This record gives sequence, C-alpha cells and structure tokens, in this order.
Amino acid sequence: MTRIADLLAAGPTYSFEFFPPKTDAAQLSLGRVIAELEPLAPSFVSVTYGAGGSTRQRTRDVVTWVRQETAITPMAHLTCQGHTRAEIAEILADYQASGIDNILALGGDPPADPAQARPSDYAYASDLIDDVDAANHFSIGVAAHPEMHPRSPDRDTDRAHLAAKLRRADFAITQFFFETEHYLRLVDELLVRGIDKPVLPGIMPVTNTGPILRMAAMNGTAVPDWLRERLEGIEDQAEIRRIGVDVATAMCAELLEAGAPGLHFYTLNRSTATREIYANLGLATTR
Ligand code: FAD
Repeated sequence: MTRIADLLAAGPTYSFEFFPPKTDAAQLSLGRVIAELEPLAPSFVSVTYGAGGSTRQRTRDVVTWVRQETAITPMAHLTCQGHTRAEIAEILADYQASGIDNILALGGDPPADPAQARPSDYAYASDLIDDVDAANHFSIGVAAHPEMHPRSPDRDTDRAHLAAKLRRADFAITQFFFETEHYLRLVDELLVRGIDKPVLPGIMPVTNTGPILRMAAMNGTAVPDWLRERLEGIEDQAEIRRIGVDVATAMCAELLEAGAPGLHFYTLNRSTATREIYANLGLATTR
C-alpha cells in the first residue's frame, strides 16, 4: 500500500502523467515508454480519465497494469461530471479491491454539445472528494490552476474553491504554466488562506508548437512573449524539443530551489523530454 500523502511527507516526489491509449499499437507504445521511464524511479505515475467516463475501462486497465506489472505506484484520475453516485461508488470499490490507493479527484468538463450530457449527480471536484473521502481508503489529490480555472469569475473565487478542496485533500497538482511566478503566487495565496498542503507543479515541456500552444489557450495558460520569440519560425522538431527541454529544465530548477515539493511531468505518453530534463537536473543520478 503506497499513499502519495506518505510519499510527499517523506520528501520531494517526481511523477509522470499518461493518458490511456486508444489502440493496441498505442498500448504497446505506452508499455515501452513506461519501461523507458521506470529506471528513473518515479515516485508515482498518474493516468488521465476521459470526461464523462469515456475512458473508464481504459484508465482502469492502465492503472491496474502499472500496479501489477511494475514497481511504480499508480494514481487514477477520476472526473465526476456525467457520473451518478452509484457509478462512482462502483469505480471506487473496484479500485480499492485492485490495490489502487491514490485518486486525483476532478470535476471534469461538460460535453461541448449539451444534448450529449449524461445524467450527473456531481458538478464540482469538491462533490467527488466527499465520496472518495467517505471510502476511507484513498490518498486524495486535486487539480490547481495557477492562472485560474477558465470558468472562475475571478482569482479570489478560484482560490477560495481551491482552498476548500485542499482542506480535505492531501495534495494538489497544477495545470501547466511557463513562468515560475504563477506557481509561487498560487502557493502564497493558499498560505494566506491557511493552506500549506503540498502543491506539485505540473511541467509541460514544449515538444511541438501547434498542439501544446492550443492546449495552453484552452487551459488559460499564458505563453510569454520570450517563449513565443524563441520558438518563432523554427520548423525543425528536434530544435523545438531542444528549446522546450531547456526552458522546462530552467523552470524546474527554479521551482525546486523555491521549495516546490516535487515535479509532475505531463509526458504526452513519450519519454524523451522527461528523460532529458531529469538528466539536466541531475535527478537520474541522485535518486
Ligand atoms: P473544480 O474544482 O471542479 O472547479 C471547476 C470550476 O468550478 C472552477 O472555476 C472553480 O472555481 C469552480 N467551483 C469549484 N467548486 C465550486 C462550487 N462549490 N461552487 C461554484 N463554483 C465552484 N480533465 C479530464 O477530463 N480528465 C483528466 O484526467 C484530467 N486531469 C487533470 C489533471 C490536472 C493536474 C489538472 C490541473 C487538470 C486535469 N483535468 C482533467 C482538467 C479538469 O477536469 C478541468 O480543469 C475541469 O474543467 C474542472 O475540474 P477541476 O477539478 O479542475 O475543477
């Protein structure tokens, strides 16, 4: 039994995030990526969950595979919008029986087309925390948004809801960001509200320009001018990745120096950028 709350209490954690593959070929490729990353001895890996339960089985398959076939601690993401309480109870009981000890409790997003909305007993992550907490088994993580959640009306409201989640959860993982100041400000704003639970910064190395910049726009992540200028006009993928790894390495070093309780890497199911950042930070040799 390995609870992320206990890992964080023992020292910094270094973790990797994956999404559940859609095809057999992608599944094989993810198996290879996890094998390439396992020698880095991640503290835990997490597996995303499709909004409204669209990857319910596939997320479970990857999480339980990691639990059974590797020495790595897994965490299952779980979104609650579009689920009934009975469905969530079933999912949690199944995870508990499968030896999964960690849940990232998320609100999730409604479908773009309201006609596709499924019956839902939940609106926000905080509703799900009630149920995960009641199971009395899981270490609970929540999402934090350094530049505010896009649906938050203002920063103060955003921080109030986050603080309420963190009063009951063990830790948070942030949305990705490109300036250390966003993270430091978030931590300060939580401290002012009396919250000092660990907040793991989410790191997204820029390995391509189109998709990652589109994701940033959707999440409300600002892309600073200096980063746009460094990437401008560069077509060579290897060069883009080199810049992305350099920028992420510098930010990770700043974050650790500033006292971040670890790093959480958005891997996009690839290993190279994460391995290079690890090597640059000297983490591969010291862990
Ligand atoms: P919530 O806590 O549900 O909040 C959403 C909005 O509602 C915020 O503006 C908040 O301020 C507001 N709010 C919260 N509580 C209340 C309340 N009681 N009353 C009024 N307003 C309230 N999405 C996926 O689909 N699958 C994933 O696996 C996934 N993993 C993620 C991992 C991380 C680390 C992060 C940062 C995000 C992830 N997401 C994932 C995205 C997430 O689902 C979206 O951000 C979603 O829009 C909201 O869920 P939440 O848990 O972030 O926010």
